[in-house]
Amino acid sequence: MSREKNRFHDIMYVDFKRFLMILSNTMKNKDFKKIAEFHGHVCPGVAYGYRVAKAALRELGEKAKDEEIVSIVENDSCAVDAIQVLVGSTFGKGNLIFRDYGKQVYTFINRKTGKGLRIGIDFKAYKETVKDKAVMDKFLSGNKSPQVMREVRKVKDKKIAVILNSPEKGLLTIKNVKIKPPDKARIFPVVRCEICNEKVMEPRARIKEGKVVCLHCFENPPSNPLY
Ligand SMILES: [Zn+2]
Ligand SMILES: [Zn+2]
Repeated sequence: MSREKNRFHDIMYVDFKRFLMILSNTMKNKDFKKIAEFHGHVCPGVAYGYRVAKAALRELGEKAKDEEIVSIVENDSCAVDAIQVLVGSTFGKGNLIFRDYGKQVYTFINRKTGKGLRIGIDFKAYKETVKDKAVMDKFLSGNKSPQVMREVRKVKDKKIAVILNSPEKGLLTIKNVKIKPPDKARIFPVVRCEICNEKVMEPRARIKEGKVVCLHCFENPPSNPLY
């Protein structure tokens, strides 16, 4: 068995004390601290996002200060917050694009070099133990007693430690892709909706019965006003 495999095996099956040690080392990592601060808690989702973001930056260059890297995310899970923090693609800058496909797949494009990457999470090696599954089943069926919550935290901490310490191969699938980056963020003229009186950017406005209206007022009958 290779050394890497051995290490992975150790992490999967060592006792909880060791997980806590790994976790406390992780908490000292300044990137992970930033993610935890932004996201509000530490969970397996942000651990996955951390691994994806690190792989993306290694291949594409440094964090986007402006719109240098475009990230296309195919889910809105916790992982996306780690990507926003580390890759610098944010909703507000327009270089974070959400496609609601329900897939753990992330595409990154460097606008300068044109290089594109498609990174998927496919953690084949991770197997929940019977005990872990029983704990999570209790939690998911609504049992939030202090004892169950303590056990859930342990299961999650263990998973975080495993995600952060597993070799990339077997955790992520990374493909080079050629895709055209979307246009940079633009500023559009603003019009006023003639029904709700709120302002709306012109390309999103519609005409309804001869009136310029916002999408809400266009799609909803007068019996369902905006407010
Ligand atoms: Zn989370
Ligand atoms: Zn309106």
